[in-house]
Amino acid sequence: MLRKVVVVLLCSCLSFSTLEVHAWPSQKSREEYEKQGHIIWEAKTDQPIMALTFDDGPDPTQTIAILNVLKKYGVKSTFFVLGRRVKQHPEIVKKVMADGHEIANHTFSHAYFNAGSTSSFIRQEIERTQLAVYEVTGVKPTLFRPPGGNYNDRIINTAHLLGLKSVMWSWHQDTKDWTHPGVHKICDKVLKNAHNGDIVLFHDYVPGKTQTVQALETILPELQKKGFRLVTVSDLIRQSGNQQKVNQPDNHRAKAKHVVK
Ligand SMILES: [Zn+2]
Repeated sequence: MLRKVVVVLLCSCLSFSTLEVHAWPSQKSREEYEKQGHIIWEAKTDQPIMALTFDDGPDPTQTIAILNVLKKYGVKSTFFVLGRRVKQHPEIVKKVMADGHEIANHTFSHAYFNAGSTSSFIRQEIERTQLAVYEVTGVKPTLFRPPGGNYNDRIINTAHLLGLKSVMWSWHQDTKDWTHPGVHKICDKVLKNAHNGDIVLFHDYVPGKTQTVQALETILPELQKKGFRLVTVSDLIRQSGNQQKVNQPDNHRAKAKHVVK
């Protein structure tokens, strides 16, 4: 009798875990997402163009300081905003737009999606931000960056169904400016690794004192001296003919931590 109970329990546990595995969203290789055109990490281009991106704003102090430096050097960038902050600082978003930059979606509450995140939760986080930006600017973003760069099929497909292309960043262009690594380190990261088609990750909101603004004062003129044109992510995609790096050796660097099963 006891044996029978144990067997029954074991079977039900097995079938339950199998069900769970099947319910988990899958994820494809970086190359497959690139071929599909649903995620971009960087653009394949022979032209000396790069896109600088700023996450987690808008912030009344840091975003404005960054806008001033960008204006000084005539640079256009892409700002991945949080819907929650758009509602708090609509005037900053208007200014970003008026200065000719691109506004993109970074979820409403900086939700770190994971394998357990449901489609409806993901959709809600994205749609609320689309709406918040639309109410302020009259334009809906076309690009989306999941917080932490977390992705799986469910996250990417949900964004795609809402008309958004997902944007990561060049792995060699993660400035980690939010960890306050020092102005010099931020500059070195970008300048020593600058390649055609790169997408660089900065933040226009970091807790505490930002080092990003001071770093930009060095990075922008140096990149321009090297001949790089700094454009929005949408312009980078357009100007590179929507080509992406596919099947090249240096594309096998996708880090496991960025993939959410
Ligand atoms: Zn973020």
